[in-house]
Amino acid sequence: MHTLTVSELAAGLRARKFSSLDLTLHFLGRIERLGPELNAFVTVTADRALADARAADESLAKGEGGPLTGVPIAHKDIFCTDGILTTCSSKMLSNFVAPYDATVVRRWRAAGTVLLGKTNMDEFAMGSSNETSFFGPVRNPWDLKRVPGGSSGGSAAAVAACLAPAATGTDTGGSIRQPAALTNLTGIKPTYGRVSRYGMIAFASSLDQAGVLARSAADAALLLEAMAGFDPNDSTSVDRPVPHYAAELNQPLKGLRVGIIREFFGAGLDPAVEKCVRAAIDLLQQEGAVIKDVSLPSLPLSVPTYYVVAPAECSSNLSRFDGVRFGHRCEQPQDLLDLYQRSRGEGFGAEVKRRIMTGTYVLSAGYYDAYYLQAQKCRALIAGDFARAFDDVDVVLSPTSPTAAFELGAKTSDPIAMYLNDIYSIAANLAGLPGISIPCGFVNEGGEDLPVGLQLVGPHFGESRLLSVSHQYQQHTDWHQRVPAGYA
Ligand code: GLN
Repeated sequence: MHTLTVSELAAGLRARKFSSLDLTLHFLGRIERLGPELNAFVTVTADRALADARAADESLAKGEGGPLTGVPIAHKDIFCTDGILTTCSSKMLSNFVAPYDATVVRRWRAAGTVLLGKTNMDEFAMGSSNETSFFGPVRNPWDLKRVPGGSSGGSAAAVAACLAPAATGTDTGGSIRQPAALTNLTGIKPTYGRVSRYGMIAFASSLDQAGVLARSAADAALLLEAMAGFDPNDSTSVDRPVPHYAAELNQPLKGLRVGIIREFFGAGLDPAVEKCVRAAIDLLQQEGAVIKDVSLPSLPLSVPTYYVVAPAECSSNLSRFDGVRFGHRCEQPQDLLDLYQRSRGEGFGAEVKRRIMTGTYVLSAGYYDAYYLQAQKCRALIAGDFARAFDDVDVVLSPTSPTAAFELGAKTSDPIAMYLNDIYSIAANLAGLPGISIPCGFVNEGGEDLPVGLQLVGPHFGESRLLSVSHQYQQHTDWHQRVPAGYA
């Protein structure tokens, strides 16, 4: 049951091959048995899952419910869940129980999904390897010595190991796409504003966007449709109808103009990863896509620009965690300043502190113009490069990440090396564009087969196109159907 896609599970539920309760018990059993070695979950919500499943079975028995009714899912622990712990994998929020559901959580719940639990992540979504979590690193089911990517690493490991059919993620600079690539999943980051950020704990508000980690583009389409749409509670959510993504998956590849981003096939790209991506380009071409070379000359500015903008916004967003209103409070503060200093000093981990300090610095009176303002100008250049490219092509293509999954600890002492893992994904966030990562092959490292991801980025609100190209590709390949040994 656990290797079935969401669409297959939905069909099975409707045909009464199994009940939602059967399904839920099966996944809870896998989580109990296989969860600990992966450390994919912060909280397993077994009681809630069983209650959700019983309710779903009742709706199904009455012939009610939609395509997701009774399907188990997991949420990244950055989404507020009413009455259930929401930690953001930080000591700061290790005791935080939100009094409401995030819009994404509410919508998936209304669609009839069953909540299995909350997944581990990098602390406050800052990281690319899931090693900054207060609850310890997540392991990659393809090789337990390696990272699953981050920051949505728990969601990725859980879905890749078939502990959940799908999960939410959030992507500020690559945190859905990069873990999808490193664990052989389909991960979509929608256009900024497509999905509500209400109740999603903010990291960098102008970059954060919620999305889906799933085992196929068809599943991602179904799940995105159920979470997207206008929300009056999020002033940056866009009031624009949500397409029926799942019904638009068969747009032909013939004539599709695919731009290959020249700047993303240079130094730093592992040749074995490049080989997989090039083979995928050949396949698209055979199926009638028109391949074009595109240059986006400002893209090499993405990482430095991001590491000014994102810390700046995070330093402001995280100022609310002051030991007074939310989360961790130090013991016996001497005075107010001591309360702030020790609560924050004890509550935040090293990477979060590094970002807050960088952000405070670039926003300070003396350096604002030199760093923050300059970064905003670079951001406009990057967005302009994409806009020009989309005059000529329908989507742009690149690897998702320069390497396959790396070993735990390999980059923890070198923040810059860690930051560079998102070199291909960050630009889409800076420009607010939708991006998807899909499995496109494997490389062998140290005797282990490790998945490789291919990234497609489209124009604003081009999710339907990204999903349909991905779906077509998945009709011709079976990379996405492979499951790590020991988890099948
Ligand atoms: N890895 C990037 C960072 O550390 C992106 C994280 C994310 O997308 N949330 O900031």
